[in-house]
Amino acid sequence: MLAQQHAGTVLTIDLGAICANYRLLRSRCSSAQCAAVVKANAYGLGIEQVAPALSAEGCRTFFVATIDEGLALRAVLERAHGGENPRNSPNQTTVFVLSGVMTGAEETMLHHRLTPVLNGLNEVDAWAAMAKGKGTEITAALHVDTGMSRLGLPDDELDELSRDWSRLQGIHLAYVMSHLACADEPGHEMNRAQLEAFRLARQRLPSAPASFANSAGIFLGSDYHMVLTRPGISLYGGSPSLENANPMAQVIKLQGKVLQVREIDRGRSVGYGATYRADRRTRVATVAVGYADGYLRSLSHSGGGYIGDVRVPLVGRVSMDLVTFDVSDLPETEVRPGSMIELIGAHNPIDVVAAEAGTISYEILTGLGSRYHRTYVSATGPA
Ligand SMILES: *Cc1c(COP(=O)(O)O)cnc(C)c1O
Repeated sequence: MLAQQHAGTVLTIDLGAICANYRLLRSRCSSAQCAAVVKANAYGLGIEQVAPALSAEGCRTFFVATIDEGLALRAVLERAHGGENPRNSPNQTTVFVLSGVMTGAEETMLHHRLTPVLNGLNEVDAWAAMAKGKGTEITAALHVDTGMSRLGLPDDELDELSRDWSRLQGIHLAYVMSHLACADEPGHEMNRAQLEAFRLARQRLPSAPASFANSAGIFLGSDYHMVLTRPGISLYGGSPSLENANPMAQVIKLQGKVLQVREIDRGRSVGYGATYRADRRTRVATVAVGYADGYLRSLSHSGGGYIGDVRVPLVGRVSMDLVTFDVSDLPETEVRPGSMIELIGAHNPIDVVAAEAGTISYEILTGLGSRYHRTYVSATGPA
């Protein structure tokens, strides 16, 4: 409680909402299994708290971006279960590392049961050599590029591999996977084109279960589900579609504490650059949050907060530790030092704040700062 009292801004993370979102996504996955993407510290929300919650919900497959994230996740899962409940045992859990095998890290990955997503022939060869050295089969996923041109086997490497499957010798292919570029635009022609490219690629590879859909891909329909889906953002409340209403439960609430309230005359400026000038007598509330907290500077002049149901527009520029709101529309008694302004929450969902900042919800979440007082709740009960 004390920590909350001297914190300027409070970030509340609803683990119940994350679990409800997992259940909703799983219910939309036809017969496919639903993994959880928990890279970047579970999209900024805390791997330590999020992974055990999802594991308790029945999630047995996780994706992280890097080997270090994988090591952290393994430690979290082992601590959470202490080997007590065999059904939840960390041994039953697969952790995939999206960035693949790095030279020199093969032993560490094997030792900690981190399964690489092989992104190129060089990685296929490295992992096969590892298997040969160990004299045993070792598991991996194989990523083929169908349109992102970022990671995954490019066409020429797929050609090469399709002519010589022996390069996969010793590798147990858990999944062949690919990644959608435009899934959040359901009508985009890329979706069908990538689906077809993935089908053709799989025909040229040894038969293996397929994984294709991210959050948005799940909502493109059962053609995209295959054997394993890989949602990230929608677990954390982000909309899976740019075109449709968001079916996900909001997970985070960010409340900023008012430090001071002042009344300024018409014509008086607010903040750096004096870019805002009051066009009437205005009451300005200064709140203890700024771009150093990931409250993006691009929200200057476009963002807003809420007090109850009343929107209070952000005025002036966001500075490093402070931001200013026009609270003239509220009675004086309602906005005082110590009052809280909702910066992100039910009135101001992450996708709306992201749009106001000219970015996407992913960047808002992964940028959430370290100065917030973080509280974890389970406010959203079982669905
Ligand atoms: C990040 C990532 C995901 C999760 O995507 P969301 O849009 O957050 O659901 C799935 N697959 C891959 C390969 C990724 O890099």
